Amino acid sequence: MSDTDVPEVEETDKPFRILPRIDDLNRAFWTGGERGELVFLRCQSCGYFVHPPVPFCPSCEGRELAPEPVSGRATVHTFTINHQPWMPGPELPYVVAIVEIAEQADLRLTTNIVGCPPGDVEIGMAVQVVFEHYDDVWIPLFEPFVAAGESVDAARDAS
Ligand SMILES: [Zn+2]
Repeated sequence: MSDTDVPEVEETDKPFRILPRIDDLNRAFWTGGERGELVFLRCQSCGYFVHPPVPFCPSCEGRELAPEPVSGRATVHTFTINHQPWMPGPELPYVVAIVEIAEQADLRLTTNIVGCPPGDVEIGMAVQVVFEHYDDVWIPLFEPFVAAGESVDAARDAS
């Protein structure tokens, strides 16, 4: 694959990934992608989104948490470009990023940025969720955010 290709997440070219163990707490997060939804546990008392999943709210210690979808939009908080084959995984190089979910400032995910050359990724860049499906797990990855009606190339030229 050349740097200019825009990788699609197709059944045929998915990289090997170590999959999470699904339990009652994290099931909504890892399976929301089946419906195209990024889902977090949310405190029903104070509205705080909780991630990684724990059985209580770190903000108010409330115990009533329920899965709720967010918009799927986020910004790149920090990132690194991995050139080393530490373990079987995506084609090198790839971007490991911490993204901040739009709905809450401290709601962050460690993920990969896909759909653009690694050299195009910048801190503060707007991204949107895309899912890679393995068995009963939908892994949330992020690609450059493209407003409705814009092409990826137009968005890239504007940045
Ligand atoms: Zn709470």
